[in-house]
Formats: sequence, C-alpha cells, structure tokens
Amino acid sequence: MRQKIIAGNWKMNKDINETVELIDGVKSLYSTNLHSVKVIVCPPFPSLNVANELLRGTGIELGAQNMYHENEGAYTGEVSPKMLKAVGCRYVIIGHSERRQYFKETDDFINRKARKALTEGLIPIICVGETLQEREQNITHQVVTTQVEGCLQNIPGENVEKVIIAYEPVWAIGTGKNATPEQAQEVHALIRSLLSKLYSPDVASKVTIQYGGSVKPENAKDLLHQPDIDGALVGGACLKADSFIAIVKAAL
Ligand code: PEP
Repeated sequence: MRQKIIAGNWKMNKDINETVELIDGVKSLYSTNLHSVKVIVCPPFPSLNVANELLRGTGIELGAQNMYHENEGAYTGEVSPKMLKAVGCRYVIIGHSERRQYFKETDDFINRKARKALTEGLIPIICVGETLQEREQNITHQVVTTQVEGCLQNIPGENVEKVIIAYEPVWAIGTGKNATPEQAQEVHALIRSLLSKLYSPDVASKVTIQYGGSVKPENAKDLLHQPDIDGALVGGACLKADSFIAIVKAAL
C-alpha cells in the first residue's frame, strides 16, 4: 500500500514572519489521527531554516522548491542539495512547470538535478504535465511519456522507487480549473504503466504519483481516491493552514 503524500508548494510566498504563522497553523491542525498521511511543506529558501526548527518532532517533513546539480562552486544564485540537507530538507521539487516555462528548464536539466538529488539522499518530486494546447491537440500521452522518460534517464529502478512524480497539467495550475478525477487517473495510470515497462511492475507499484493543479478542499477527496493517485502537490490552497489540512484530511 502506497502512503498518501500531500506536499505544499508555497512558491514565492511568505516571508519569515509569515512562515512562522503558517507553520504554527499547520502544526496545530495536524492532529494524530492524520499521521497516516505524510505531509511535506516546501517554503522558499530563506524560510527553510526557521521552518526546520519549527517542524522538529511534528512528523511534518520539509522540502525545497528547486536545487542545482552541484554541491558547491561558482554558480551565483543557486542552492545545492548539500545546503538543503543541512537545513533539514528531505524532499526537493524539481522541474515544476513554472521553472520549465519561465526559466527554460528542460527534461535533460531536470534529469541531472533528479540524479544529483538521489545521490545526495534527497527525494525529488519530479513534475510533469501537458499544456492546454497540447491537451487540445490530443498529445497529452506523448508529452507526458517524453517528460517521464527524459527526467528518469539513467536512474536505476532501486532509486526510481524513491522518487515522487507529480502529474500537474499546466492548464490546471493556479487556474482554479482542476483536472477531473477521471482525466487525472487516466494520466496517472499511463505513468504507472510506463514505469512498469521502463522498470518492472514491482517498481511501478512502489512509485508515488501525486496530482497537482488547483487541488482544493472541495475537490480533493474525489481526486485522492482514484486508484493511481497517491497524493497531491498543492499550490494556492497550501497557503492557508485550514485549507491545506482539509486536503490532508481528504486523503484519509
Ligand atoms: C503547483 O504550483 O504545484 C500547483 C499545483 O498550484 P495550484 O494548486 O495553485 O494549482
């Protein structure tokens, strides 16, 4: 049985003071009966250290929103996996559509980051998903297959088991228009069968595949109870403790 995993991608929101407020809120609502659901928060880099201190002993895990594929050096503005681990991160989001769109990240670049994250003991949350135009052209399967294959190049099965894949249709991110549970399940099943072909049915059955794109308390339950949907990557709705925890509850 795959554990449900709900991750909050704060994006470029919340300064240090607001971080304290939001983490305190999430902590106070994450009651013991919810502990079967894994909860990860991914604040911006400047808030990671404070978030790590506040989360100690709560069972809530910490992730970053990006990293570079080297541990140190002349890479102005970048942050390494070594630095993320030192501030308590266990997870890192890689290849979010906003990074693909605004910072021109490619599958090859995302793959380098994913391999480095795994080598350094971080769990990558690798994002894939089609644009509206691609969906309308009926090439969703092709696009997602190319992204998954490209992002997982040269990652052996024993490491792929640890990876989290987030299927995030770009047209659903931040738009308020989520994929229907049926649309999401169809692509999740495609990803799982691709993993089965690329690796084995056993490996495929162990990989967590999250859905992301306008997940809210009102639509979470239906999405999270599809057979191949193992959790959610949540943007807008994770910025309020009560709506984030309502999504966690929907995963039970
Ligand atoms: C995201 O940014 O990963 C995301 C899913 O955002 P939202 O929930 O706001 O659509």
